[in-house]
Amino acid sequence: MTQRIAIIGAGITGTLTAIGLAQQGFRVDLIERNCEAVTEASLYNEGKIHLGFLYAHDHTWETPRLMIEGARSFGPIIQRLTGFDVNTILSTPFFYGVHRESLVTADAFASHLLRCTSTFNGVVQAKGGAYVDGNVAITARAMRARRMGRSL
Ligand SMILES: Cc1cc2nc3c(=O)[nH]c(=O)nc-3n(C[C@H](O)[C@H](O)[C@H](O)COP(=O)(O)OP(=O)(O)OC[C@H]3O[C@@H](n4cnc5c(N)ncnc54)[C@H](O)[C@@H]3O)c2cc1C
Repeated sequence: MTQRIAIIGAGITGTLTAIGLAQQGFRVDLIERNCEAVTEASLYNEGKIHLGFLYAHDHTWETPRLMIEGARSFGPIIQRLTGFDVNTILSTPFFYGVHRESLVTADAFASHLLRCTSTFNGVVQAKGGAYVDGNVAITARAMRARRMGRSL
């Protein structure tokens, strides 16, 4: 008898889990309180595939490590489950700014970016995969901001 599984919540997590289980032959009931799927956080997110850059204050390095592994495997998983190629919706480059009263200094943040970059490139070399096709190596450049004509 086919096993029947209920999933509550049709955001990206629930829908992709449902598709994955259905592809493996399970019978899935996907239950959503709204009239349509993907209408909450999964609809409003900014679409970044994070590389752990934002977690400079995590001294354990666990969050960046997890984000880097997720970024490496996200595209192939989406492709396998939905057939959608994330390379077709790439954004333009963007910049991170560090507030002068941030818990992490601009220099510490810059070191964090470089560590994320080299970790990501090392993981891709060792395990394969890519952030996006044709852009296997990620480059983070630390730049000093200028305010009122002087370096901060
Ligand atoms: C403004 C914003 C920007 C973001 N930007 C990014 C980004 O750039 N990159 C990134 O990786 N992440 C980003 N995120 C985070 C990302 O969007 C979420 O982590 C992700 O969408 C969570 O998916 P989910 O399926 O777990 O939750 P949701 O998409 O919220 O789905 C949960 C679903 O469960 C349903 N539900 C809840 N309770 C019940 C119930 N009792 N019965 C039935 N249905 C129920 C809800 O209605 C909802 O549809 C952003 C989030 C926000 C809000």
